[in-house]
Amino acid sequence: MHNEMQEESLAKDVQYEEKDEAYFSYYAMLTHQAQMLQDSVRTSAYQMAILKHAEPFFEGAKVMDVGAGNGILSLFAIQAGAEVVYAVEASGVVSALRRLVEAASQEDSPSNAWLRDRLAVVHARIEKVDMDLLKRCTPGPVAFEDGKVDTIISECLGVLLVHERMCESFIEARDRFLKPGGAMFPRTGTLCFSLLNDSRLYQEVRARGEWWNTNNFYGVDLTPFADAARMEAFSSPVVGCFSPTHIVGAQTDPNTACSVCPDDAVNRYVVDFSTISLENLRTFDVPIALDCVHEPVVVHGLGAWFDLSFLQPEEEEENPDNPQFAMTTSPFAPATHWAQIRLLFPEPLAMNTGQCLLGSLHFQVNERRSYDIQADLYVPLSNESSNEPLFRRKAFWKLDNQTYSWETTGI
Ligand code: SAH
Repeated sequence: MHNEMQEESLAKDVQYEEKDEAYFSYYAMLTHQAQMLQDSVRTSAYQMAILKHAEPFFEGAKVMDVGAGNGILSLFAIQAGAEVVYAVEASGVVSALRRLVEAASQEDSPSNAWLRDRLAVVHARIEKVDMDLLKRCTPGPVAFEDGKVDTIISECLGVLLVHERMCESFIEARDRFLKPGGAMFPRTGTLCFSLLNDSRLYQEVRARGEWWNTNNFYGVDLTPFADAARMEAFSSPVVGCFSPTHIVGAQTDPNTACSVCPDDAVNRYVVDFSTISLENLRTFDVPIALDCVHEPVVVHGLGAWFDLSFLQPEEEEENPDNPQFAMTTSPFAPATHWAQIRLLFPEPLAMNTGQCLLGSLHFQVNERRSYDIQADLYVPLSNESSNEPLFRRKAFWKLDNQTYSWETTGI
């Protein structure tokens, strides 16, 4: 279909809701697309995962790329032998992507001739895509039969995996377009939490609230703002790469110290993209059981990051620890553009050797494409009788209220 006609007929599919306008304008900018491409940890992990899974997930397959943006994942899928890739993208960056497709179709000296008739650019929010639209976009001689694809790929990852709420779009695409038994790339994402000791950062965040504690600012008493400023400072996650030396303690061994958390799924939440329901993505709890084994520590909050795995269920059974198909944004590994986050407590916590921090983090989606996080944590009087708390810490963070502090060089 001629581009202008296509634009016109699809116009209704890309009328974003008002709250999404700023979101998609951000991604329409090639500067922001380049920042993601330049994250070599990210881009190489995806390329490796896709090329090494050419058989049986990409070779001759129909593939959908959810949030294709600059198109890189679609192109990797074609390099891995995909018959056709539906590159679904809501933002205005599609006009640049279309130029890439046109350049491949040129008669004289085409660039990337290998993608000719393989890439269908679909300018729409995935939520608005239907079979009709996919049929209209089908390139070249590929027949479109049942409206289903063999494999879905997406880089739907935000800060701490879930910020931006794009994982929901990936799941929605799965439920509507994936053939039974089809594959999801990535397959799982895991949120990870640790104890954090960082008095410099704690003072910095505290000072943001304390600044308002003055009764003579150009003759004005600012102290009525102080409580709200303090609350705002401590409920704002601090994004940035930090040195792993700030991580203290270790995961409590659930078999010895922690009767509250009998299984080992503590301090993390696994999002299995091939099975998770939208419900379990929108609201979830992360059980916390962290202890300081070697020495007394002052805990200023939690450090958090996410891991990713492209291992498919059948491979996982054979070799669950295969590092080839994993990516981590942990402070122990090379930096990525997601960095890590730090969630500070308004009151630090002194823990003695052998004590543990128990409780949970409650995640709840909000209307700002993000999550509210409620922590209810406590140090039990003794590890055996964990009912009676020695200390209790309740804290609240808004994952969208991000502030920044870079300690080690990010990318
Ligand atoms: N796939 C590219 C870009 C990833 S950034 C890469 O890996 O480099 C995520 C992209 O998804 C952005 O371009 C954004 O505009 C798009 N996006 C987010 N939500 C979407 C939705 N619901 N439907 C379609 N595109 C979406």
